[in-house]
Amino acid sequence: MRHVDIRQKIIKTALSLNETGLSAGASGNVSARVDGGFLITPSGVKYHKLRPEDIVFMDFEGNVIQGNYVPSSEWRFHMDIYNARDYAKAIVHAHPPYCTALACLNKGIPAFHYMVAVAGGKNIRCCRYEPFGTAELSEAVVKALDGRRACLMSHHGMIAYGDNLEKALSLAVEVEVLAQQYQLVLQMGEPELLSDEDMERVMHQFWTYGDNAQKVENEKRRKPRKTWKTGVSYPKRSTFYKRPNEKDGM
Ligand SMILES: [Zn+2]
Repeated sequence: MRHVDIRQKIIKTALSLNETGLSAGASGNVSARVDGGFLITPSGVKYHKLRPEDIVFMDFEGNVIQGNYVPSSEWRFHMDIYNARDYAKAIVHAHPPYCTALACLNKGIPAFHYMVAVAGGKNIRCCRYEPFGTAELSEAVVKALDGRRACLMSHHGMIAYGDNLEKALSLAVEVEVLAQQYQLVLQMGEPELLSDEDMERVMHQFWTYGDNAQKVENEKRRKPRKTWKTGVSYPKRSTFYKRPNEKDGM
């Protein structure tokens, strides 16, 4: 069996969906890109019963290559996200309470807090309602993810993706916390939103923060002459925070 380590990480991430409260029971699903396709949790199997061989291997055209079970009924939007965003390496989908509550009002998360930029733009959109498992839902999800790494899904839940399973899960947790905070704020009144300029600035700060800080340093060291002549030059935003083909979408 190939990709045993990634299969184990998928199970660990799926269990974390329960532990973090993002998902109760077996709702939600997790996948990771591998050579020639992606691995995804099977349909209707409780996470604590999952074994590495139960994780389903599918190609990018929707064919099951290997698996003891049928894939999650929501495999289609996983496939379409991987096909539309070659930098998406892992996807987490869940029905967390606060995200889902907002999504049931067809509300996304606006720039009420600077951390909203963690998903890649000035807001986190909510895609239109379409029945689960359909190509129409997939299309709506991919559109809502334009320039974003997470979105809410009307009358359904949320999706987050990232460079790996840990990052996809951690973004999902961040988005759920933002949804909770936004609802607390709404109980007291309508918040004043941060401007596009404020959010652009936050995103610039994110590009040069954490993991990216080291990349910025490496970039400076890699081109010492240019840096010496032109002063401090940060890498283009597309280099680290957003990928070249990730549209701006602000
Ligand atoms: Zn779902």
